[in-house]
Amino acid sequence: MRDTLPLLEQVPFPAIRRGRLDTLQVNLGYRCNQSCFHCHVNAGPNRTEEMPADVADVVLAFLARRRIATLDITGGAPELNGNFRRLVREARALGVKVMDRCNLTILEQPGKEDLAAFLAVNQVEVVASMPCYLQDNVERQRGKGVFAGSIRGLQKLNAVGYGRDPALALNLVYNPQGPALPPPQAALEADYRRVLGESHGIVFNKLFVLANMPIQRFGTTLVAKGEFEGYLQLLQDAHLDANLDGAMCRNLISVDWRGFVYDCDFNQMLGLPLKRRARQRVHLSELLDEDIAGNPIRVAGHCYGCTAGQGSSCGGALQEAAE
Ligand code: SF4
Ligand code: SF4
Repeated sequence: MRDTLPLLEQVPFPAIRRGRLDTLQVNLGYRCNQSCFHCHVNAGPNRTEEMPADVADVVLAFLARRRIATLDITGGAPELNGNFRRLVREARALGVKVMDRCNLTILEQPGKEDLAAFLAVNQVEVVASMPCYLQDNVERQRGKGVFAGSIRGLQKLNAVGYGRDPALALNLVYNPQGPALPPPQAALEADYRRVLGESHGIVFNKLFVLANMPIQRFGTTLVAKGEFEGYLQLLQDAHLDANLDGAMCRNLISVDWRGFVYDCDFNQMLGLPLKRRARQRVHLSELLDEDIAGNPIRVAGHCYGCTAGQGSSCGGALQEAAE
């Protein structure tokens, strides 16, 4: 696979620095029951990288010591990691809000029959990928059978109270099929609510609209099709300085399965670690007693994916989030 980093590093992006850290995003590994076309971590069933127990211990120590408000758990399918439930339980016991980036089909994998109930009991916010409300579009991006499995997953979550009980948030994530900016979040959310409600009886809280990042599998495909420069130009032309403050890297760090720290998940996938003073990369265990506010953020051309148009962060469109 062709690495898009050398191309992205040639593209200047405004300098930004970290603000106050409130979210720890941890990637528990790259194993996943799916292998989606747009996956920016190249996850799949044959990946073996997984966060071990001693790194999960560091995550819990960091949450407690730095008084972090939110633990955002991602993967792969993070629920496949043997430390997932311990991390959730212990983080919740610390009073930390926990988010699970769930692919929905995991809810019906063998051995995961009680997963929806576990998430509900622990009041975990579920953020679920659902790239469209139409079967063809979902399956083109995520594979055959994924749409029906995702619908069943959403119904399971609804059945245990998600989307209905105010303590059980169920948010969906949309990203475009190809090299285009996402449509306005509010209008698309209304369409999702209508179609998923009328056709499948599904309720949810919010739709997060995210731009596709020109990295990993998606970036490589753009390069192969000769569309990489055009997509990057589209993102750059739509850049708004007003979106810089809301970029998720200002308040979040991303931790890989080995415990190394990045300014965001995208930088993690590009192999761009957070730099701290003379250190070219740092382990989470080295930051237990260190405040990294003010640290420069490592930026490159892919960052326009966060600042183009309505903006894009792990909580969806920035412009609408600010309203
Ligand atoms: S479900 Fe998510 S992590 Fe798994 S392959 Fe698809 S995009 Fe990647
Ligand atoms: S990709 Fe987005 S979140 Fe990551 S460093 Fe760039 S602006 Fe920040």
